[in-house]
Amino acid sequence: GTRRPLLVILGGGESGVGTAILGKKKGYEVFVSDKGKLKEKYKNVLEHFEIDWEESTHTEAKVLNADIVMKSPGIPDTVPLVVALHEKGIPVISEIEFASRYTEATIIGITGSNGKTTTTMLANHILAAGGLNVGMAGNIGDSYAKMVAEKDYGFYVLEISSFQLDGIRQFRPHIAIITNITPDHLDRYGYQFENYIASKFRIAQNQTSEDYLIYDADDEVMVDWLEAHPVKSKLVPFSLEKQVEQGAHIKNNQIELVIANNTFRIMTDDLALEGKHNIKNTMAAALAAKLVGIRKETIRNSVMNFQGAPHRLEKVLKIAHVQYINDSKATNVNATFYALDSVSASIVWIVGGVDKGNDYRQLMPLVREKVKAIICLGSDNTKIKETFGNVVDLMVETFAMEEAVKVAYKIGERGDTVLLSPACASFDLFKNYEDRGNQFKEAIKNL
Ligand code: ADP
Repeated sequence: GTRRPLLVILGGGESGVGTAILGKKKGYEVFVSDKGKLKEKYKNVLEHFEIDWEESTHTEAKVLNADIVMKSPGIPDTVPLVVALHEKGIPVISEIEFASRYTEATIIGITGSNGKTTTTMLANHILAAGGLNVGMAGNIGDSYAKMVAEKDYGFYVLEISSFQLDGIRQFRPHIAIITNITPDHLDRYGYQFENYIASKFRIAQNQTSEDYLIYDADDEVMVDWLEAHPVKSKLVPFSLEKQVEQGAHIKNNQIELVIANNTFRIMTDDLALEGKHNIKNTMAAALAAKLVGIRKETIRNSVMNFQGAPHRLEKVLKIAHVQYINDSKATNVNATFYALDSVSASIVWIVGGVDKGNDYRQLMPLVREKVKAIICLGSDNTKIKETFGNVVDLMVETFAMEEAVKVAYKIGERGDTVLLSPACASFDLFKNYEDRGNQFKEAIKNL
């Protein structure tokens, strides 16, 4: 008889196991291979679907025998096994690519350096309020492939990282959003910003003139790139600084959306989310919602009653007239820029962690203007100390969250804000950014 094609999945996490389920359903022989340990719940799922797996190793002979490989976005292209796959000409794709081959749904794909999760959640919230049968997936929540396998929706709102985009071939979102592009993850892109930009724009590479690309027209990186590398998609810009013909801009303190001769407005003061960056995120999500036909009233109400995501400028508590804000998700300098920008002075700023090649200089004006004390919280704080040591009145080094919060409590005075916005990854002292944010909240509650 004919042999079933072999789908090998590298990485047995949420997206790997979801892809395994979909692959099995679609007639592949499936093999999941993980260099680390699989979670118990995933082992059970794989057993249930009678899918072969291994942990703590990659059996090369088997992996290199694949017809197609789905690689978890966490595995860099430079590891020898992946290099060997490329050399053998075996296609290595991402979950987004694989799952999209098996759904007819309308896809809204959201990428960018910052604001992906917020924009994804908001777009999903508006579409759901509009009564659409919508699934939210990608880098958020449950596996996209698993959803396609088990339920499938009419619409997907997908949060997509650049690593996921590196593994696409035909993936074609009907609506693409690029929230912004600032240097991030450069360690995975040969320290070439160009490579990272190109990776983000892959989201539009298969789009046609029927599709839309929503982007930030104030972002010079994107505007310059689009000029040099035109796309086929219909361009839908949003801007806080200038007026656009089609898209979204600000007029008299209102967001004005213009889509095909159709104009409507939302008061910026009415938005549930605070900060300039969230006006942009709202514009992007609202434009996407309008393009899939959601009514103005529904959009307006949804952006007014949206509950933001935790760890993103999340107000925790006010103690003795000091506001504590958890922005643990700020893992790069640009995210922290917007946090410092949207919080009023004076700030006790908790910063630091794993530096991904950060350039802190763009924060200097805001730090001078608003920050009264810096609490370093990383295993190596050298760069932060060098950059800001002479700029703020007080700088303290700590190596545990509890200590950092206690120090902040001592320093904080009536009217101050204690802001955790690290501008760095969390892996030195914490499991992940959620763990960092949760420890922050816990420490505040213990004060
Ligand atoms: P992502 O999923 O892209 O990491 P999030 O929505 O989780 O984005 O937000 C990550 C961090 O970036 C948060 O600290 C948030 O306050 C900040 N942020 C959100 N939207 C933007 C934006 N449009 N521009 C810059 N920073 C933003």
